[in-house]
Amino acid sequence: MRVVSLHPDVLVATSAIWQTNCTIVRSGEEAFLIDSPVLPEELEMLPSLLRQAEFPDLSGLLATHADWDHLLGRLAFPDAALGCAASTVERMSRSPGEAQRELRAFDQRFHIERAHPLMLGQIQALTVPGRCEIGAQELELHRTEGHTEDGMAVSAPWARVLVVGDYLSTVEPPQIGESSSIEAYIQTLERLRPLVSEAEHVVPGHGPVLNTERALEVLARDLASLSQQT
Ligand SMILES: [Zn+2]
Repeated sequence: MRVVSLHPDVLVATSAIWQTNCTIVRSGEEAFLIDSPVLPEELEMLPSLLRQAEFPDLSGLLATHADWDHLLGRLAFPDAALGCAASTVERMSRSPGEAQRELRAFDQRFHIERAHPLMLGQIQALTVPGRCEIGAQELELHRTEGHTEDGMAVSAPWARVLVVGDYLSTVEPPQIGESSSIEAYIQTLERLRPLVSEAEHVVPGHGPVLNTERALEVLARDLASLSQQT
């Protein structure tokens, strides 16, 4: 797992699997984990990573969307509450146990052993667009859909970091969810454009963290390829 600091308040840990990004944000005495790495060793490392970086104890977990590879934070922090967009909570209630089934299938395929099964606990539905307090600051939550029918991007404006979930990746082309549409994906990219322009770092769900210029290039590339498909 690779760990980089984007700002004194923001760390990004990148999993060896699919370069899945996990972002850790703090303000004052509060810290949130957004999405998760995938491998057991990577998840086990997170609490000591927070301590080494002198980050406060975790106040909560956030997930950009309900795909299982982003939802594993509770394996590292079993007592932390998970907050998701209301659209994500709806998706999970429509297909209960989906994340657990897909995690089990992945683990069986690669003979991965985990000490505990994934328990997501009581999930808090967050209003998106909306805000989420953290210490003296606020995270801003923005709607995303197209990759899946659910989701949110999370921005930390004081650190100029934007965590977008599975959009704007240089390692994966746009993937349109079965229950979503190209049109929804295009609208999401248009919604992200001004946020990307204001950010200094854009963290995609998978692949390298992008600077503003590169993220706008990827956005334009994805828009062009999707527009051809409509
Ligand atoms: Zn993903």
